[in-house]
Amino acid sequence: MSPDAPVATATAAPAFVAAIGPYLPRTHIAYFSMEIALEPRMHTYAGGLGVLAGDTARAAADLELPMVFVTLMSRQGYLRQSFDAQGNQFESADPWVPEAFVHPLRAKVAVLIECREVWVRPWLYRLHGRLGQPVPVLLLDTDLPENSPEDRAITSELYGGDASYRLRQEIVLGIAGVRVLHALGFEITTYHLNEGHAALLGLELLRRYPLPADTVGAGELGFDAGPVRRSCVFTTHTPVDAGHDRFAYDLYERLLPGYVDSGQVRLLAGPDALNLTRLALNLAGFVNGVAVRHAEVTTRLFPGYDVRAVTNGVYLPDWVHPAFATLFHRCSNCWVHDPETLARFDQLPDGDVWQAHAQARGDLVAFVADRTGVALDTQLPIIGFARRMTAYKRPMLLFTDTLRLRAIHAKAPFQVVMAGKAHPHDEAGKQLVRQLHALSRELAPQIRLVFLPDYDLAAARALVAGCDLWLNTPLPPLEASGTSGMKAAANGVLNLSVLDGWWVEGCIDGVTGWSLGEEHDDGAASRKLYDCLEQVVLPLYHRNRAGWIGMMKQSVSKLASYFNAHRMMRRYAAEAYLQHRGSAIRTATDQPAGRSPPPVRAA
Ligand SMILES: *Cc1c(COP(=O)(O)O)cnc(C)c1O
Repeated sequence: MSPDAPVATATAAPAFVAAIGPYLPRTHIAYFSMEIALEPRMHTYAGGLGVLAGDTARAAADLELPMVFVTLMSRQGYLRQSFDAQGNQFESADPWVPEAFVHPLRAKVAVLIECREVWVRPWLYRLHGRLGQPVPVLLLDTDLPENSPEDRAITSELYGGDASYRLRQEIVLGIAGVRVLHALGFEITTYHLNEGHAALLGLELLRRYPLPADTVGAGELGFDAGPVRRSCVFTTHTPVDAGHDRFAYDLYERLLPGYVDSGQVRLLAGPDALNLTRLALNLAGFVNGVAVRHAEVTTRLFPGYDVRAVTNGVYLPDWVHPAFATLFHRCSNCWVHDPETLARFDQLPDGDVWQAHAQARGDLVAFVADRTGVALDTQLPIIGFARRMTAYKRPMLLFTDTLRLRAIHAKAPFQVVMAGKAHPHDEAGKQLVRQLHALSRELAPQIRLVFLPDYDLAAARALVAGCDLWLNTPLPPLEASGTSGMKAAANGVLNLSVLDGWWVEGCIDGVTGWSLGEEHDDGAASRKLYDCLEQVVLPLYHRNRAGWIGMMKQSVSKLASYFNAHRMMRRYAAEAYLQHRGSAIRTATDQPAGRSPPPVRAA
C-alpha cells in the first residue's frame, strides 16, 4: 500500500508462540502510553501519567480485560535527582536492566523516519495483577545494530531531547506501535490513547481506510475517518495548554515525507502547528478527561467536542500499607475485586486503625532516615507534599508567611516532608527546589522540613501511607485529577487540598478531609491554608485524636471505595470499550450555543 508498509519478521518459532501465542485470541484492546510504571526497578515512567498507566494495567489484569499495553523501552529512564548544598538540582541518567524483566520477541517492524528505515523490536513484559491472568506489555526498542547510532537512541530517554527527538519517539510509539501489533498477529478493535503522545497512531489507522474512489462529497480528508473514530478512545490528562505536544509542520514534513500529506494533517491537527491533542480529539470516537472538573475545563479549552469524564482511580493493593491491607481483609475478603466493600471500613475499632497507621508512619520515618539521614520525630504529625516541582503546583504556598507558620507551629507542632523532581528544562521548577532547600535551613531547628530526593514509586509508597496530612495546593483549574491524594486517602492519610481535580468529587469538608477552596490569588490562598491548619486541622490532631481517627475511617470508607482503578476500568470497559462509539465531535445541532464550529466535519 505504501513505501513504508510494515516489514515484519514474526516467526512461528516455538519460543515466540509460547511467549505471545496465548494472548492473541483473547486480546482486542490496545492501550498506548509513552510511560508505564511497571515495577520500581523498571524506570519506564516519569510521574503521574505513567503510574496511572501501570495501575490501569494491573486493574485490567485483575478484571481479565482483553488488553495489551504498548510503551517505549526507555532504557535510560527519566532522571535521577540529586542536589548540592545550595539545593541546585542535578540530573543524571537512570538506566535499568531490561534483560532482568523483559524478553525480546522475534519480530520487528520498520518505520521510515527522514527517509531512513528505523527498525523497532518489541520486548514482552508479563504483568501480573493480584487476581486473574497476566496481561502483555510491549516495550518498543530501536536499539538494534541495523539502526544508525542516532536512531538507536530514539527509545532511550523518557521525555529527553528536543522537539525532533520527541516527535521521533511519538512516531515509534504511534506508528510503529500499530505495526508491531499487526506483525505479532493481534487483532485490535479498540485503541486507547493515554494522552496525546500516541496520536500519530490515528494517522496510521486512517491510511488503512482510504475513501472509495467514487465517494461523492467526501470532504477534504481523502480518508474515511469513521472506522478510525469507532476504534479510538482518547484520554486527555492536562488542562495546561503548554502540556499539549505541538510540532512545526516543517519538522513533520522532514521526518515523515510522503506519509500523510501535511495539508490533510492540518485539517485534523490544527492549521498552525501539529497539535497532537487536537489530532486525537478529531480521530477518537470517545474522549474523556480524568475527573469531572477536568472534563469541563477541557471542553472550555477545546469547544465543540463531547468530552466525558472518567475519574481516575488507583490500584489499591499496591498503594495500601500491608497493615491497612490486613484491616481491609476484615471489611471483606474480596476487597481487591470489590473495593466497594471498603465502605464498611468505618465500622473498625479506632485502636486498630491507629495502630496500623503507626506502623505505616514508622516505615516512612525509617525510609526518610535511610534516604536523607534526617530523623523525623515519631510523635509529631507529618505533613506530606510530593509532586512534580513546577510553578502551578505552588509548593511555596505553605511558606508564604514564615512568621505565621512559626506561630502556628509553636502552638501545635508539625513537621513537613516534601519531594518531587523538576523537569530538566523547567528553570522555574528548579528554582522552587532551591528555595525549599533554603527554607529548610531557615526554619530549622524549630520546624523540621525535609526534602526527599528522587521521588519515585518507592518514595511515593512510603509517603502516601506514612504521612498524617496530604497537602495539595495547585493553582485551579490546572490539576487534571491528581492521584497521590487518592493513595493517601486509602491509607487514612487526610487530604487538605485546593478544590480542583478529583478533590471536587472526593471532598466532604470536615468528613473525608478539608477543602482549601478555589482561590487564585496566592496571598488569599495561603491565608486560607494557615487559617485551616491553625483553627481546624492541627487542633483536631493534637486535642481530639478520636475525632481525627473518625475522619481517617471516613476517608477510607468513602474515598478508597470509589477512587480505585477497578472502578475506573469497569467504567472504561462499559462506556468506552464495549459501547458503540460514534464521534466525539459535536454536530452543529447539538452544540451548545456560543461555541465555535468543529474544525473537521464528522465523516
Ligand atoms: C501517584 C504518583 C504521582 C502522581 O501524583 P499527583 O497527585 O498527580 O501529583 C506522581 N509520581 C509518583 C511517583 C506517584 O506515585
